[in-house]
Amino acid sequence: MVKPLIFKVALPVPIYRLFDYLAPEGINLDMIKPGVRLEVPFGKGKKTGFLIEISTHSDLSTDKLKPVLRILDDKSLLSAKELRLLQWASHYYHHPLGEVISAAFPTALRQGKALAVKSEKRYTLTELGQTTDNHTLKRSPKQQSVFDKFQSSTHYLSDTDLSAWNNNWRPAVNELITKGLIKAELTETKPSNPKAIIRNTPLICNPQQQQAIDSVYNTLGQFSVFLLEGVTGSGKTEVYLQIIQAVLERGQQVLILVPEITLTPQLEERFKQRFAVNIALSHSKLTDKQRQIAWLQMQQGVCSIMLGTRSALFTPIKKLGLIILDEEHDTSFKQQEGFRFSARDIAIVRAKQLLIPVVLGSATPSLESLYNVEKQRYQLLHLPERAGSALAPVLQLMDIRNKRIQEGLSEALIAEIHKTLAKQEQVLLFLNRRGFAPTLICHSCGWVARCQRCDANMVIHFDAAHLKCHHCGQEQALLKQCPACKAGELIPLGLGTERVEKALAELFKDKVTVRLDRDSTQGKGSLENYLEQINAGHVDIILGTQMLAKGHHFPNVTLVAILDVDNGLFSIDFHAAEKLAQMIVQVSGRAGRAEKPGKVIMQTRQPDHPLLVTLIQEGYRSFAKSALQERKAAALPPFSYQALLRVQAVDIKMPQLFFKALSTLIEKHNTGQTQVLGPIFAPMARRAGLYRYQMLFQNPRRQELHVFLDELIIEISKLKQAKKVRWSLDVDPVDLY
Ligand code: ADP
Ligand code: ZN
Ligand code: ZN
Repeated sequence: MVKPLIFKVALPVPIYRLFDYLAPEGINLDMIKPGVRLEVPFGKGKKTGFLIEISTHSDLSTDKLKPVLRILDDKSLLSAKELRLLQWASHYYHHPLGEVISAAFPTALRQGKALAVKSEKRYTLTELGQTTDNHTLKRSPKQQSVFDKFQSSTHYLSDTDLSAWNNNWRPAVNELITKGLIKAELTETKPSNPKAIIRNTPLICNPQQQQAIDSVYNTLGQFSVFLLEGVTGSGKTEVYLQIIQAVLERGQQVLILVPEITLTPQLEERFKQRFAVNIALSHSKLTDKQRQIAWLQMQQGVCSIMLGTRSALFTPIKKLGLIILDEEHDTSFKQQEGFRFSARDIAIVRAKQLLIPVVLGSATPSLESLYNVEKQRYQLLHLPERAGSALAPVLQLMDIRNKRIQEGLSEALIAEIHKTLAKQEQVLLFLNRRGFAPTLICHSCGWVARCQRCDANMVIHFDAAHLKCHHCGQEQALLKQCPACKAGELIPLGLGTERVEKALAELFKDKVTVRLDRDSTQGKGSLENYLEQINAGHVDIILGTQMLAKGHHFPNVTLVAILDVDNGLFSIDFHAAEKLAQMIVQVSGRAGRAEKPGKVIMQTRQPDHPLLVTLIQEGYRSFAKSALQERKAAALPPFSYQALLRVQAVDIKMPQLFFKALSTLIEKHNTGQTQVLGPIFAPMARRAGLYRYQMLFQNPRRQELHVFLDELIIEISKLKQAKKVRWSLDVDPVDLY
């Protein structure tokens, strides 16, 4: 008897195995390859899954198996290597394969919709538009602002660009088309011509830049990892551009990953200025349709460059020749929920598989990457100076012990701000806490506004007139009276950006301040609008949170002040020192580009703290060296490997029962050197109504840790106590909270 064919299918469900289905009758096996999408019955409904393997064997008896309903693709949208990469990632991060593959697809394809390759419209100024003065549109401010946008952009703007800029651009653009000022065209659907990729000539490089470019150039077509270390303004982007050029000339495509969406527009602009090729964007602010077009255009080789955030890493790419990760130290490259992958680490695996180089760029490389340089796994490319004539900023600590402080600003700092503003230069103030104040306390009885669902205080937001928990999002109206004693005055304690903004408005009455934090930049395009105003010189003081630490360039800023550097010095997470040092150097990098040297002031009550002193006197590299020595002494990563098991439940007893059952399993499987730390309460023991526990696994040998985890995870997924809790495993955690 002929055995029936079995399709082993990965389904997007949180279950650690493949599902068996009967192959459709009369199927031509030569025509169907792993990776194709299938529609299968699942429970009472249907699901879209992915074919992984064709077999004649099933653990279930074949009369129990259901047939596949439909085969959705003629050809797999993933290459065999791309599928293997996803399988590797699923295995390494211990996340179900179906969910991993599904996450790599755009939403519509994930849901089983048919392929529809459309190209996007893009718009440019007509000849008339190029010579027309924008004053002719004075009577329609909307059209005028759209027209300004076109005149200030060097090249075309696509649907995607315009939607990212403003939600309601279409009517104005249509008017401008009618007036003959703008024209629309469809993007090319042919791959770019390798002979005509350059739009503007490259800069002439300094010797270090040239050496960096040559080193990468010489490894094109081979696997190699480069760490491009250079402060802001040292010319890293120019190095990227020239390496990209070489890859495009070989007829290959390039993937560039950045940690933040907000960094894409400025890079995109530079790419468009330099290259006459199609550029695809991929990040979460795009519509599903836009993401799908970008995805397919890379898959088919129509776009030459993809610029995106971490999830863009899984885009199928026909002829990938180079991967660049800018700001490689940034922990945003690690996904912190669901499928907890590191885009940096998988990028390296992908490059190894494809035999192509990877370039990791940063002014403040991660300790892991520096360690890998030391171990000669990565090759260091160093740009020690700012490109052109720019000078490096001067860092200094400002001791504020026993000094008079007004809303976080010492008198000495206020004087420095006045001095800078008097020269018509800009000031940037950094405070990593949004809202008005982090605590609302009763002056009479000491009552504090706490979140009812978290171990956390409610943060005061005066602008939005509410109290808000930054951990679970819970909101409540501002209180007029203390709910405990019904008499005492309620006082905001501590400092947030809203509060400093109010103080600045008082102190610098005739100056313009903008506040950049997650609250003030909610609206689409609002951050870009602020950045435009700042760069046009309409702003005197820029106040913001970590948003400012990431990549944005403020050429006219000559004074940077970090208002509360001490706040980062006392964390229980061993990653904290590294993150703080990176933040300080990154924020400093915003100051004094071009010919104006900058000054960076850090207000502190810990002027002798070794981290701060080393960083200021000897620089980031010395800090990194001593931090690595400390990690080594404590056998912490990168000298060991970790995985964090997080367990949460509404009922505090459930995690306890879970860990009790787990301890037997651990004993059985932990035959190697894996250290087991915990279970302990998470640093925030309760969040969004759930009690949170964690257990850390650590081993000096990665392989051994993973063998142990492989066995353990399978057992956990069968455990009945595991069904009563939410649990997750975080491999190589970057955050122990
Ligand atoms: P980074 O990416 O390290 O911040 P960029 O590549 O953006 O540095 O360079 C900073 C500035 O210096 C940019 O304005 C860039 O045009 C300029 N620049 C870079 N390389 C050179 C060079 N070789 N000669 C002159 N200017 C340069
Ligand atoms: Zn009270
Ligand atoms: Zn909360």
